[in-house]
Amino acid sequence: MSRPNYNRIILKLSGEALSGHKGFGLDENTINKIASEVKKVQDLGVEVAIVVGGGNFWRGISAREMDRTTSDYMGMLGTVINSLALQDALENIGTKTRVQTAIEMRQIAEPYIRRKAVRHLEKGRIVIFAAGSGNPYFSTDTTAALRAAEIEADVILLGKKGVDGVYDSDPRENSNAKKFDKLRYIDILNMGLGVMDSTATSLCMDNGIPSIVFGIDDPGNIVRVISGEKIGTFIKEE
Ligand code: UDP
Repeated sequence: MSRPNYNRIILKLSGEALSGHKGFGLDENTINKIASEVKKVQDLGVEVAIVVGGGNFWRGISAREMDRTTSDYMGMLGTVINSLALQDALENIGTKTRVQTAIEMRQIAEPYIRRKAVRHLEKGRIVIFAAGSGNPYFSTDTTAALRAAEIEADVILLGKKGVDGVYDSDPRENSNAKKFDKLRYIDILNMGLGVMDSTATSLCMDNGIPSIVFGIDDPGNIVRVISGEKIGTFIKEE
């Protein structure tokens, strides 16, 4: 296997990536597969931090009459459930992990402290960032961009379910949709591509953090991306 291209990464997993065929909640088999691929990445000497979404339980924006802030807090709690499931799967295969939550819940996990997170990574622990950014009206994609900037990650790997990269239109609806191998963040904003929200896109653009969007249906893709295989869509500042 070729030498990994990155020293420190943020892996962003959408909540749905953990739900397998069910599309809702958690599928332990799927989580175990992802955990074993994450371990392989770490075994290559890469420092791995993970941001997990919560869309397999709840998305704040889906509320009809509920207060949006309350709804977003519910979404953030979903990410905590996912983070604990992933931590458990990773520790079952002998990986040292720490979950850090952006909203304090000390009986469950450490609070997010940047310097501690970096120290954990340096000591070879996988750090899972839970509860998003701790703020309503944000997404876990934005959280991934924020944490990547804070811990000086080399790249964000965005594992998407049901799609293998960024297209000019939805490939599930348009059979002529064109996949991009490379993109600039400004193109995402200009073309209104739905790959990540504009807050996350701007944060990556302004801080020069590259990202790679790839399909997570085959968890083996995580190692492929790290090893420099040209799958998915590579996005950078210019
Ligand atoms: N969320 C939030 N602030 C954050 C991150 C997440 O309010 O910083 C809430 C928001 O309601 C969001 C939900 O948590 O819809 C789940 O996160 P996301 O939709 O990003 O999960 P994914 O689509 O990646 O599974």
